[in-house]
Amino acid sequence: MDCIFCKIANKEIPADILTEDEEFLVFKDINPKAPIHLIIIPKIHLGPINSLKDENEKLLGSLILKAKEVAENIGVSENGYRLIFNVGRDAGMEIDHLHLHLLAGSRL
Ligand code: 5GP
Ligand code: ZN
Repeated sequence: MDCIFCKIANKEIPADILTEDEEFLVFKDINPKAPIHLIIIPKIHLGPINSLKDENEKLLGSLILKAKEVAENIGVSENGYRLIFNVGRDAGMEIDHLHLHLLAGSRL
């Protein structure tokens, strides 16, 4: 499949990777909108939120908890951060591989 985030997950194209585990990969956004702008993706290809099903409930919960864990590890938990799912055209979504944005590092 011709998906940029699958290619990043498979290490076929480079990215500035912060951390990864069996399920998720965390890397820096190439065009950051805040001093800290991370993208958290499942390694398997899933579509955006509007395409998900009940069976994706557990993975979605884990994805958000992964963002929480990353925020703690990079030391932004106390000052705060913003988590964003862009969904569809009106949100300006560019990439249809499920991803969660984590923005932090300044007053947003
Ligand atoms: P979306 O608008 O789909 O929610 O966000 C996609 C994000 O992925 C954008 O913020 C964009 O800057 C980022 N992005 C797009 N292509 C690449 C890439 O090849 N590498 C990295 N690290 N980020 C990318
Ligand atoms: Zn993908």
